[in-house]
Amino acid sequence: MKAILQDLTRGEMEAFVAVAGEKKFRADQIYTGMMQGKKISEFPVSPSLREALLARFEDEPVKIIQTLTSEDGTKKFLFSLADGNVIEGVLMQYKYGNTQCVSTQVGCRMGCKFCASTLNGLVRNLTAGEILSQILAVNRLLGGTLKDRAVTNVVLMGSGEPLDNYENVVKFLRNLSAEGGICISARNVSLSTCGLVPKMYEFAEEGIPLNLTVSLHAVTDGERARLMPVAKAYSIDDILKACAYYFKKTGRRYIFEYSLVSGENCDEAHALALVRLLKGKPCHVNLIRLNEVKERSLKTVSEKEAYRFLGVLEKNGVSATLRRSMGSDVGGACGQLRARYMEEGKNGCESDA
Ligand code: SAH
Repeated sequence: MKAILQDLTRGEMEAFVAVAGEKKFRADQIYTGMMQGKKISEFPVSPSLREALLARFEDEPVKIIQTLTSEDGTKKFLFSLADGNVIEGVLMQYKYGNTQCVSTQVGCRMGCKFCASTLNGLVRNLTAGEILSQILAVNRLLGGTLKDRAVTNVVLMGSGEPLDNYENVVKFLRNLSAEGGICISARNVSLSTCGLVPKMYEFAEEGIPLNLTVSLHAVTDGERARLMPVAKAYSIDDILKACAYYFKKTGRRYIFEYSLVSGENCDEAHALALVRLLKGKPCHVNLIRLNEVKERSLKTVSEKEAYRFLGVLEKNGVSATLRRSMGSDVGGACGQLRARYMEEGKNGCESDA
């Protein structure tokens, strides 16, 4: 695999242009072209510079190979990488803008029992540029520009555990908000983690005030460990302390994801225990009804049960919302689209991108 241009910061790009013996303004052209989601072969630069770039960098490191549009407008994308790996992403339309869900790894090694992304373990980390390129490709496909973006918000909730790919994710976040680029600020970004506590502390020191989201899914360590092996390494108590530290450093309230799984975590007693854990803390709870994954036996709850759980939280003063499940007709939960694609074999899928 060649290097990935989208990994470079603005400063690194200027250095490349200087070494190639080109004028400084060429770095602007390259940077702008790249952030517009163009391939290197489409850059408006001299043929010799284009050749120098193509000799060193992938022309199109992340390519949209399939687009599916749900009845609710949600779009699911399959992307192919330069080494032939495939990842997926989603774009959800809200009143305030469009939120893109990006992957940070090919596969995942966290082993959560309800999640399709982890079924075959971790294949590899994505580079910063491969994460950014998912957004640049979708923004361009939908007619967005750098001024008038089609992608306004980003959630790191696709395949992978972002804090298990720490360096690349932090570099990506800096490039995402950098001036002159696509300029999506940290406030419009949510990073979801299964709760890698030491990395949460390290991240609090980076000075990136995004929406830190933690996948909780249970109220005791024992019950959590049944759903999430990572719970054997870090306790809920340690996670809450790390969240409090993030709040102290950034002033940002934090969010808990809680997927309701029938018979596991959704009785009234669980809701009351969640209240005891979170009451008075600067946090919000996102409830979601489990998205059933066919390879797993876990079952979801009825809408009525979900609203009952939400009611207990609200009545007891814990800020919470029940998230709508979006795009379930085009690939369901995280990792399902890719899993289906891998199963069918690459030849079975036609590109309609
Ligand atoms: N590794 C990160 C991001 C994962 S995906 C993390 O663990 O937070 C984003 C969210 O979707 C997480 O809260 C994850 O636990 C949840 N999730 C994954 N599969 C799901 C499913 N089948 N149904 C409901 N939520 C799911």
